[in-house]
Amino acid sequence: MRLSQMLFVTLREDPAEAEIPSHKLLLRAGYIRRIGSGVYAYLPLMWRVLTKISKITREEMNATGAMECLLPQLQPSELWKESGRWDTYTKAEGIMFSLVDRQEKEWGLGPTHEEIITTIARELIRSYRQLPLHLYQIQTKFRDEIRPRFGLMRGREFIMKDGYSFHSNPESLKETYRDMDKAYRNILTRCGLSFRAVEADSGAIGGSGSQEFMILAEAGEDEILYTPDELYAANVEKAVSLPIDAVISPFTELKTIETPNIETIEQLAKFFQTDSTIIIKTVLYEAVYDSGVTVFVLVSLRGDQLVNEVKLQNELVKQASHYQAKTVISLKVPEVSALEKYTTKPLPLGYLAPDLSDEYLVKNQSFLRLVDHCAVSVSNFITGANRKGYHRTGVNWEIDLKCPDLVVDIRKAVVGDRAIHDPTQTLQTARGIEVGHIFQLGTKYSQAMKANYTSEQGEDVPLSMGCYGLGVSRLAQAAVEQSYDKNGIIWPIAIAPYHVVIVIPNITDPAQVKAAETLYTELNQAGIETLLDDRDERAGVKFKDAELIGIPYRLVTGKSLQEGAVEVVERKTGLVSKVPLAEVVSTLKGLNAVAN
Ligand code: ATP
Ligand code: MG
Repeated sequence: MRLSQMLFVTLREDPAEAEIPSHKLLLRAGYIRRIGSGVYAYLPLMWRVLTKISKITREEMNATGAMECLLPQLQPSELWKESGRWDTYTKAEGIMFSLVDRQEKEWGLGPTHEEIITTIARELIRSYRQLPLHLYQIQTKFRDEIRPRFGLMRGREFIMKDGYSFHSNPESLKETYRDMDKAYRNILTRCGLSFRAVEADSGAIGGSGSQEFMILAEAGEDEILYTPDELYAANVEKAVSLPIDAVISPFTELKTIETPNIETIEQLAKFFQTDSTIIIKTVLYEAVYDSGVTVFVLVSLRGDQLVNEVKLQNELVKQASHYQAKTVISLKVPEVSALEKYTTKPLPLGYLAPDLSDEYLVKNQSFLRLVDHCAVSVSNFITGANRKGYHRTGVNWEIDLKCPDLVVDIRKAVVGDRAIHDPTQTLQTARGIEVGHIFQLGTKYSQAMKANYTSEQGEDVPLSMGCYGLGVSRLAQAAVEQSYDKNGIIWPIAIAPYHVVIVIPNITDPAQVKAAETLYTELNQAGIETLLDDRDERAGVKFKDAELIGIPYRLVTGKSLQEGAVEVVERKTGLVSKVPLAEVVSTLKGLNAVAN
């Protein structure tokens, strides 16, 4: 392609709308344009990158026996009502765009396709003989994200590869899950990315596990905890660990002590000249269930630890049936002003303990009390006195206060904790961009939507399912976030929009133009995807643009032509070599300029 004939516009300045490097660079280099909040146009260079990622993805998916299809983006509300997700997706989380047609029928714009695929499976899969089956598609998804940001990283319209598999038994599901793990590793490796596969939170869906694929980059929204021996890696939302040991408490006598103006655990530990591992703190949460019931939750844990709100949310969902509900739609630490409506008198916030009286709550309601495992093994601890300005010391579970029945893992694992599989390993931290998530769903959707098949024994049983997402457009930007320098993007060769850019420093020099045109034709004929910068611009501008757009190799038909050679500049290293005209094609082939 000739740059003079392309819609090729680069920006000198960083666009104000962009915060992270990859977003700035893609805008500046003319790959994308923002059309609305979280909505972008993929310009021709970007489309070539996305097409390459999709091609690699298709090849690896097809190699596992999965079959490509294309499902509708307009999805009837009935299907989402059957699965029970319509209200949460359109109202509670509000992630699904919905609309009403001229017949007053409701539709959603597909954020994901479990409902559609399950209805197809319900209609077409009759017998175990048709299983296993795996269908996937590469398509635009719509999600009304609360905070669309960072360009393609979190868009409201984005491209995803989503696959769904159906099985007659758990072993078959596990086999496909393992195939997907391998396929995703192949895709990311072939795209030239450095990544880590991590254990992930499966949320309320449960199932027997899920794994995320993280592109390692500082700007990543996710925190990963891993061990140096590479045997453990997990999203912090899911991570487990061994905490540091609590010290032996010197407070052997039960006492109530005035502790005025103490606001933090650090201040409390200092006040008692002790360690925060023997403090039991209690945090108040407000959870709203989908039945409309609001529940106040007392979460108790060791003073040196933090609540993992994803784990807490999962535990609260398990309690949903007690509140005539299926799920939790909001979970937060309540504002003091919001509490008045639900309480009979002001709560002694800051001085709460697990035994705070239910009398604080209106209408005979009671607190839902949870305690973290590690807190239960602490004795002679310090905790609130449920009275403003006072704490108790020397407190023991069951002797001085009742231990909550719900003893759960609710604690955030942190860098420096010991690993469970080997306590000599300590958890390290890294940041990542989630580009893929693979999931063993089990029968959640097939049960809800009655997608059954006839088993070998002649029984009618729900299909077992897996689902596998890969964020194609997010992956493209993540590649930039992992590979750039002060001058611009550095594409891995496999997904670069072009392999080579030929720069003609002076287009008024016929010798330069002739050499460039010849090389342009030869390279393209040899399968080396080549751009020709034949614009009437200063050489400096062209060099800058070539760096900015990140093409792996730059050929310059400049002074070296007098020696019958061109300069070949490698974008990644800046290394310059002179190559005789006749050897350019073979040299570039040798440099691996042709991907795959
Ligand atoms: P996140 O936690 O980042 O919101 P998710 O758990 O909602 O992701 P999935 O529903 O598993 O994501 O979607 C599969 C993949 O699609 C993700 O791994 C990610 O790569 C991509 N993806 C999800 N949401 C977006 C978005 N708003 N913009 C771009 N890509 C996205
Ligand atoms: Mg999301």
